Amino acid sequence: MLHQFFGGVHPAEHKDLTEHKATAPMAEAPAQVVIPMTMHVGAPCKPVVAVGDEVKVGTLIGETTGLGAPIHASVSGKVVAVEPRPYGGGGMMMSVVIENDLQDTPDPSIKRRDNVEALTGAEIIEIVKNAGITGMGGAGFPTHVKLSGAVGKVDTVILNGAECEPYITSDHRLMLERGEAVIGGARLIARAVGLKEATIGIELNKPDAIEHLKALVGQAGDVHIEGLKTRYPQGAEKQLIQMITGRQVPPGKLPADVQCVVCNVATAAAVYDAVTEGKPLTRRGVTLTGGAMAEPMNVMAPVGTPVSHLIKMAGGFKADPDRLLYGGPMMGNPIYDLDVPMMKSTNCILALTKDEAAEQDPAQTCIRCGKCVDACPMRLTPLFMRMRVNKRLWSEVEELRVMDCIECGSCNYICPARLPLVQSFRTAKFAIRDEQAKTRAAAEAKKEATNA
Ligand code: SF4
Ligand code: SF4
Repeated sequence: MLHQFFGGVHPAEHKDLTEHKATAPMAEAPAQVVIPMTMHVGAPCKPVVAVGDEVKVGTLIGETTGLGAPIHASVSGKVVAVEPRPYGGGGMMMSVVIENDLQDTPDPSIKRRDNVEALTGAEIIEIVKNAGITGMGGAGFPTHVKLSGAVGKVDTVILNGAECEPYITSDHRLMLERGEAVIGGARLIARAVGLKEATIGIELNKPDAIEHLKALVGQAGDVHIEGLKTRYPQGAEKQLIQMITGRQVPPGKLPADVQCVVCNVATAAAVYDAVTEGKPLTRRGVTLTGGAMAEPMNVMAPVGTPVSHLIKMAGGFKADPDRLLYGGPMMGNPIYDLDVPMMKSTNCILALTKDEAAEQDPAQTCIRCGKCVDACPMRLTPLFMRMRVNKRLWSEVEELRVMDCIECGSCNYICPARLPLVQSFRTAKFAIRDEQAKTRAAAEAKKEATNA
């Protein structure tokens, strides 16, 4: 039986722009790709190639220096620069720039694996690690770290096929077009953490994907396909866990604390490709959409493709975009520079017209309607949090549990005054983390002085 999560909203979906369009190959490959040395949670990778080196698709170009995932070339060709470049995380990031020879020659290390059934869980996790797989649903957490942390601790594997953000359809298309890889990935992830079953949660607005995956599983019965009532932010980890298991992840805790591990369906397909074909994560499906995009579409693109090239693939802009975002309208991040590249976690480039972006109109005054409180799936009090953020009362904002905010944007969406609530919570979280780091540094310095 399915459960419910508190709060949430139902924004206009706008998925009809692309949901019936099959993922297309790139009509024209990018002349260059710019691959940032961080596309994951953790420390940036260290480049292991130099200008002039020849690389092939899947050649290792960045190795981890701590928590992270290795990075591989997404096209074959020649390295023409290793230098800081603008990237989607804001500012500059050390990047490897590859001139594409348009041959798509695979690295000789990529080989189909014959002994998949004989692999142990630890061996599957090692393959996932070496393939540089990170969460493809948005956060970019290294998948091997998530899986190894779940071994012996979880009793439930959940795949996230909710794709609850408006406009985005790349996961929907993936489930329709590569259902075998999604189901195969679900089975491998379950095996990796020592389980035999997995559940895929999909919003009911994708009935064709639900039916398709159910048909693929057939009588096997080891992968359960759950249709979920459409409600944003269904695809947030904690809300998905609650819907499927009824378990609530306590504030400040992780899915493993309620014996669950959650991976995105695209991540599962990447795991399947890595384990069966030996392929590292070098390309992904991206939805190019929004009212300002001339020909909205889904495209399979190499990681590092400049956003400007992706927009060209979608026919350019048919109207001046009022907002250009990585991701959807609820949680997406602004793109300030068309030369920034898409990354492993980029599932959408969204170009909104002025009308579509109207919800971002200049802020008015809070009318204390309380709708933001009703909409918050984390049971926070956005209006009170914002009042304290405005006064920079960080300890009080922290007491109101701002660190539990999942930045889903439901409060922004529902607020009749169009207040930029989630933006102010991001600012507060940054300020609180900054203060915590300073406090830790001061304590370390004091300890060292005492020991000296
Ligand atoms: S306060 Fe955070 S978690 Fe709650 S609705 Fe707003 S963005 Fe979502
Ligand atoms: S929804 Fe907006 S206007 Fe209503 S109480 Fe919350 S912040 Fe104020």
